[in-house]
Formats: sequence, structure tokens, C-alpha cells
Amino acid sequence: MVVAADGTCLVIDPAVTAPEVDGLAAAVRHRGWTPVAVWSTHAHWDHTLDGSGLTPLPRWSSGPSATDRETLAAERDADPELARSGEPAAPIAAPAVAYPARSSGVLDWAGPSVRVLSHAAHARPHSALVLPEHGVLVAGDMLSDVEIPLLDLSADDPVGDYLDALALLEAAQADVVVPGHGRVGGRDEIARRLGADRAYLAALVAGAETADDRLALPWTAAAHAEQRAAVGR
Ligand SMILES: [Zn+2]
Repeated sequence: MVVAADGTCLVIDPAVTAPEVDGLAAAVRHRGWTPVAVWSTHAHWDHTLDGSGLTPLPRWSSGPSATDRETLAAERDADPELARSGEPAAPIAAPAVAYPARSSGVLDWAGPSVRVLSHAAHARPHSALVLPEHGVLVAGDMLSDVEIPLLDLSADDPVGDYLDALALLEAAQADVVVPGHGRVGGRDEIARRLGADRAYLAALVAGAETADDRLALPWTAAAHAEQRAAVGR
């Protein structure tokens, strides 16, 4: 969530379950904020969810995705973690449209200055938002302390795309990163995650063992095995 001094706000990648999305919309109402749109960093099911308090809002992203609503809903319904939560699933929102731009890569809205970094790592497209006046980087599914780099294996050069995106995020020189999964981190943590992600990718390409502690989760270990089969030597 990006909130301006007057309460104008941009909701980003709202939550995972129906009660979470509804609770978020209720919290926005309770605080008297005025949401103008919902931003989707990328078209994976857990970043495209809807709820009654959000449905009237426009959906913005950095570009169209090839993944349709039915596919996203099927991926949501097959998600083991959501099933384990026992919570009802939130509906998939209408497809996002291109965001209104003041100039190239700059969001046109009433809140604080937002730069849009669009790239091809993890999903095509995937966007990160930078608030230059505040030194904040909203990273979507990048720069996580709990997830390994998750590649878009349908791309021609998924590792190259990922490395390009890491360079783009690094160049933003943010003071704070807000990832979609995991914890908020400061400058030292941003540097550590950039290093960990590059080390992971180097090991993946080389087919070498990696001691990345993010592989302790069963599902990240499974994703690693899939990536290793796809791009490792
Ligand atoms: Zn994702």
C-alpha cells in the first residue's frame, strides 16, 4: 500500500485469502483512505486477487499478460498452501490495464512520485515500484528472504532475464525493500539478498550444490529441483 498524506492510496498485490482481501479493504475504509487503484506486480494468481471492497477500482500493471483469468483461478485452486489454510479463496480480479503514465516509467496519480521498473524476471511482465522521495522499493516476487529466485521457465533466457532485473533493482539504490513474500529489509539486507540471488543463479547454471537456506521449505526445494532440471548443466 502506498498512502499519500491526504489518504489517497494505491493498493498493491492484495493478500491471498478472501478474508484477507476483505479485511484489507475494510482497514482502508476504516482509516478513511481513498484507494484509487489496485496495482498488480505480475499476473500470478496470488497477485491478482479481488474482493468486494476492491472490485470497483481500476487494476493497473506494467503491461498485458498472456495468462488468462481461468488459468489463474485453476492455479489458485491447485495451490496446496491455500488449501492447507482452510480459508476460502478470493476471486481473481479482472485483467489489469496499462497504468496511466505521466512520463515514461512514471505513474500518473495524486500520490507521491512512483517510478515503475518493468522487467522480465519471474513473470513477463513483472514490475517493481520505486518511491524515490522515500527510498522505498516495492519488489513484488523479487528480493525475498524466504523464496529463492523463481524463474519464468517459459522464457528464452530465464536466468539472463533474472540477472538483468536484479541489476535494475540494484540501480534503484533503495533504502528499504518491501517484498511480496518475506520480510521488509534495509540497505544491508538489499545487498545481502542481491548477493544471495546472484549466488543461487550462478550455482544453478553451473549445476553446483547450493547452501541457500531458503531451500529449507519443501515447496522452494521442489521449485529448485524443477529449475535445476530446466536450466542446470
Ligand atoms: Zn509470482
